[in-house]
Amino acid sequence: MPELPEVETIARGLAQNLTGDVIESVWLGNKPEPLKSPPGEIIRALEQACIAGVRRVGKHIVVNLSRQSSVVRRQKKPKQQAQWIVHLGMTGRLLIAQPDVAVAKHTHAILRLRSGRELRFVDPRRFGRLAVVCHGFEAPGSEPLEVGVESFAGLFHQRKTPIKSALLNQSLLSGIGNIYADESLFRAGVRPRRRAASLTRAELQRLYVAVQEVLNEAIAAGGSSVSDYVDSNGDTGFFQFQHRVYGREGEPCLVCRTPVKRIVIAGRSAHYCPKCQK
Ligand SMILES: [Zn+2]
Repeated sequence: MPELPEVETIARGLAQNLTGDVIESVWLGNKPEPLKSPPGEIIRALEQACIAGVRRVGKHIVVNLSRQSSVVRRQKKPKQQAQWIVHLGMTGRLLIAQPDVAVAKHTHAILRLRSGRELRFVDPRRFGRLAVVCHGFEAPGSEPLEVGVESFAGLFHQRKTPIKSALLNQSLLSGIGNIYADESLFRAGVRPRRRAASLTRAELQRLYVAVQEVLNEAIAAGGSSVSDYVDSNGDTGFFQFQHRVYGREGEPCLVCRTPVKRIVIAGRSAHYCPKCQK
């Protein structure tokens, strides 16, 4: 499942490639699951809209849409700009393609652009979601790369759940998933099963720094390509080669050579070093 660094990489690629282009027409497939807004609403919002920008909010890709002033004047509320919100779910991909490239199986939306290219949404497992909103979209939790250390520490105050589960809780922090939670906890020297409220001030400080480091390094590497993640140009990321515990069960810890352990917490696997993490 793409997490914050992968979604950031995709959003940056789309922003670079698509900003200023105009959506001429939209085709939507007949599978209902990916559409979180009514299909007619999505088509009305997208068709003839200019892509004013693309950014990441939590694990969502937010496409800002703008319209020519003549069109805006005919709308009742001219100040409101629509946004197209894409959540990639488990296997969703947004790909920029030339129209003569064969349409992949499990393609649920095709946006034909004035530049002659197409933006295609492909999602075999259909956990991805497409929606349009006409007000500023906000993710439910705090943005991990923008939150301050005090607010970060406050998120875990009196929380009885394991710290790993708290890091995955999207209403606390937006965008951290299994890979980056495990990697952050390793760097902070904190075991994943520890109760969130039991972390000391020093541990919370280390965890805060670790989360920022891990996410920024992963973004710089273009994300982690596990399973079938690729960015909007079809390129893979490279952060999987820098994972220190995630996916390394039984392999020696890179610091102390103790075999990395894998346990299950609330149905999700967690990887840690029993010696380096307390
Ligand atoms: Zn170790």
